[in-house]
Amino acid sequence: MSAHRIGHTALVRLARWTKRWPAVAARHAVDLCFPPVCAFCLEEIDGMVDRILLCDQCRRAFAPTELGYCLRCGAVFTASEPDRSSCELCPRKPPAYDGVIPLGPYHGLLQEAVLRMKRPAGQPLCRAVSRLYLQRRGGAIGEYRPDWVLPIPMHWRRRLVRGVNSPEVLASQLGRSLRLPVATDVLVRRRPTRVQRTLRPDDRFRNVRGAFALQKGYDIRGSHVLVVDDVLTTGATCHEAAKVLKLAGAATVMAAVIAKGGGREPSRTV
Ligand SMILES: [Zn+2]
Ligand SMILES: [Zn+2]
Repeated sequence: MSAHRIGHTALVRLARWTKRWPAVAARHAVDLCFPPVCAFCLEEIDGMVDRILLCDQCRRAFAPTELGYCLRCGAVFTASEPDRSSCELCPRKPPAYDGVIPLGPYHGLLQEAVLRMKRPAGQPLCRAVSRLYLQRRGGAIGEYRPDWVLPIPMHWRRRLVRGVNSPEVLASQLGRSLRLPVATDVLVRRRPTRVQRTLRPDDRFRNVRGAFALQKGYDIRGSHVLVVDDVLTTGATCHEAAKVLKLAGAATVMAAVIAKGGGREPSRTV
């Protein structure tokens, strides 16, 4: 490289730094006056190394790094059991989706976090947990290389009350960071449904049957689709969404979820 070129590169770097330093200085000043706090437990975060507003304790509680999961059904396992392609908890009748990528199990603090994320004031927590998901599962999503990222839609009436749809926040985080196309209007909710967690497993499948439709004008034939939801327990919601997508010609459908609930799925026909 010539001396002229080196000089030019140094000048460009200096110009970039000069442009950036007021923002960096301002951020440090804000951090000094208002130290960042965990979006879940409100503990002050010391020495923040990334943009995830969660303390170490909450990160460990939500998604212990030593956990593995079943790629087929999303069941979460302990350290001694590595990630695998199927397990004894996989449903006997395969669902319409091809696999699940969960952050952690739906119990304890992660369960509480998921429930808080649904509340109108849950957006900061939702963003923080989505960033943690991206950090832990971004690699798996990148390997799948979806053509579409589709959040499970919420009926407009429920949205009016809650104001926030956590699957949409996670989907947009994944789309922005992994440069994937997110479409919030491909899947539409045709009718309101009852809250799934209040129903028995068999009723959950009945509750969402025919609840989704594909927006006219989209061609998803042959594509790989990532549906995004906050919780997957029986899998009824993702199964119903995947059914619609596969009928429209999707080649594969994977589900990205914050939490995987336990329990064996009931037998049913796809
Ligand atoms: Zn915390
Ligand atoms: Zn399994």
